Amino acid sequence: MGHGKFTTVINCMDGRTQLPVIEWLKLKHGADCVDSITEPGPVRILAEARDTAALESIRRRLSISVTKHGSKRVAIVAHADCAGNPADKQAQLDQLRAAAATVLSWGMDVQVDLLWLGDDWQVEQVV
Ligand SMILES: [Zn+2]
Repeated sequence: MGHGKFTTVINCMDGRTQLPVIEWLKLKHGADCVDSITEPGPVRILAEARDTAALESIRRRLSISVTKHGSKRVAIVAHADCAGNPADKQAQLDQLRAAAATVLSWGMDVQVDLLWLGDDWQVEQVV
């Protein structure tokens, strides 16, 4: 495709989470370009799976990244002090795992990585 290696992130819209995650994905996964899908507190949207319009919007954008840019991985991000999802860390880690199940249920050929950013804005991979 001549645009380098794409990867995808479903991130919070929070401006504090963008650059740390993009830099981490470039370093850890050798991504040249990171397609960003942002929502306020996306892990809550994906975990609860109640807002069908928001879910469909995320699914559609991920599909474009996968089919048009050839992305093979999607990272899902949760973080401390989230205005869109004011849940504690443990609850958000549970939401991250449920969010992964939602994304995997869409049947796209992508590997899912789960990332947490604490108060120090360092990226931690959640297993
Ligand atoms: Zn947030």
